[in-house]
Amino acid sequence: METAGERQLAQNSNDEPDRRSAEMSRRTPHPRRGSGRDMTTAWMLVVAACVGARTAGGSPLEPEVFLEKYGYLQPDSGVHTSAELQSALRHFQRLSRIPVTGVLDGATVRLMLEPRCGVSDEGSRHIWARRVRAALTGRSGAAGPRRRRRRSAAEGEKWFKRRLTYQLVNWPRHLAAGSVRLAVRAAFQLWSNVSGLAFQEAPGGPADIRLAFYEGDHNDGASNAFDGPGGTLAHAFLPRRGEAHFDMAERWTLNGHKGHNLFLVTAHEVGHTLGLEHSPVRHALMSPYYRKPGRSLVLSWDDIVAVQQLYGKPPGERPVRLPGQVLHAALQEWELTELHRGQKSSGQPLYCQGVFDAITMDQNDTVLVFRGSVFWTVSAEGSATGPLPLQQRWSDLPSAIEAAAFSLLDSKWYFFKGKRMWRYTDGTLDPGFPRTTTGLGLPRHPDSAFYYAPLGHMVLFKGSRYSVLNLKTLHQEPYYPRRLTDWTGVPQGTNGALHRPNGRLYLFREQKFWRFDPVKVRVTKEGHWAKDLSWTGCSNVLQSNSIL
Ligand SMILES: [Zn+2]
Ligand SMILES: [Zn+2]
Repeated sequence: METAGERQLAQNSNDEPDRRSAEMSRRTPHPRRGSGRDMTTAWMLVVAACVGARTAGGSPLEPEVFLEKYGYLQPDSGVHTSAELQSALRHFQRLSRIPVTGVLDGATVRLMLEPRCGVSDEGSRHIWARRVRAALTGRSGAAGPRRRRRRSAAEGEKWFKRRLTYQLVNWPRHLAAGSVRLAVRAAFQLWSNVSGLAFQEAPGGPADIRLAFYEGDHNDGASNAFDGPGGTLAHAFLPRRGEAHFDMAERWTLNGHKGHNLFLVTAHEVGHTLGLEHSPVRHALMSPYYRKPGRSLVLSWDDIVAVQQLYGKPPGERPVRLPGQVLHAALQEWELTELHRGQKSSGQPLYCQGVFDAITMDQNDTVLVFRGSVFWTVSAEGSATGPLPLQQRWSDLPSAIEAAAFSLLDSKWYFFKGKRMWRYTDGTLDPGFPRTTTGLGLPRHPDSAFYYAPLGHMVLFKGSRYSVLNLKTLHQEPYYPRRLTDWTGVPQGTNGALHRPNGRLYLFREQKFWRFDPVKVRVTKEGHWAKDLSWTGCSNVLQSNSIL
């Protein structure tokens, strides 16, 4: 949302203390013309426009609280003037690389709602400007005038030794300790590969850097209290406190698309514990905003320059970057052996305590549960078998699929991941697959998919909408996508769904399930699937079978 009045306000602003900022705002792609409107009025109007904006955790967005928390407005200074608000917004927009308008426009509100790191951005602009200057002039980043700031790293806030120990205090219940430790080790390795630092795990403590998961308020100040799913994901302290905290309430993942990637967030927070501030470089690991892992999980030049300015280059060798694939392959291998071992000791399939990627049911009423590179089958009597490698049954199927559905219409298997769809007859990939789904009008990264007999079509859920795929034409039916509210009581963000022989539809999100009655057209029951639904294979411990 941008009006002529807002553009005028952007033109009137004059809070550019240095040349770099001035250059950046000149590059703002918005024309500066139109008649004026009072800033206060504009602020009120836009606040009214985003009153409905809510964080993923469900709490309403409070822009002033956000700007205070992340270091753009002085907290506790009473009512902010419109000039202060405007200046804060411009600073925020500039550092976040969105158009610098000085008003709370749509792009700004959207960015404020994105999941991000809880560490303040205050100070990162100065540190970054100095880093760029040093890189350009070849002079050390430690030179230059010392600026006084609250709560942020002044130069010199770093470790005075090069060998540091770390300890993983606890981890999310639904992730296995071994896989978390592997990811944490890889996160530290990212930094030791490109700097003079070396890290060693000290499982029993004491350790220089401690990583811990907490829920809500955890005794480091009300403003550091975690906020449930979405919003703040984690925060960490600058040297030499050596603490990184993670929001236990997030859905953490190591290799799936759904949820937040714990490896990436850990690597970012470790950066803070080493003394790094937020980077305005879009693809930097130290950017404050969460990004999904790309094809290669590597540090950007800005991250490398930043850590080398504090600790120098790695001794005796050229910097090595850790490709994401190495971690990915190690995790897969670990998963297969470890899941199997864990199942033997607990007598229960490991997905029962956690989250799965997808679930479906075949024509024999066998339930299939997918997670990472493996799947389990659960017989109609409720006894589980597995885990088995995905590729053993469906060759060339990638791991960490996002949705799976067996269709009773054509007795075929459908799998979805990213913008692609795979279709198998038994274990054989059909010719012409995988296909791109965006061309069919389907969403990328669907939450869940299921064959819905009452419609005779495949249904895909994604966020606040759902799509209907005609399996004969392989095109989306006309007038779709529609709003998810058609399915009264069904939550957003389900990670799996299946249609049972009793005609009811079951939807899953993390440990909960919702039962949808197609006759009453609403959700009629909710509960915990592992406990309440014997056909998920989790309440039938004695019959469980661990043959690989
Ligand atoms: Zn951060
Ligand atoms: Zn904390």
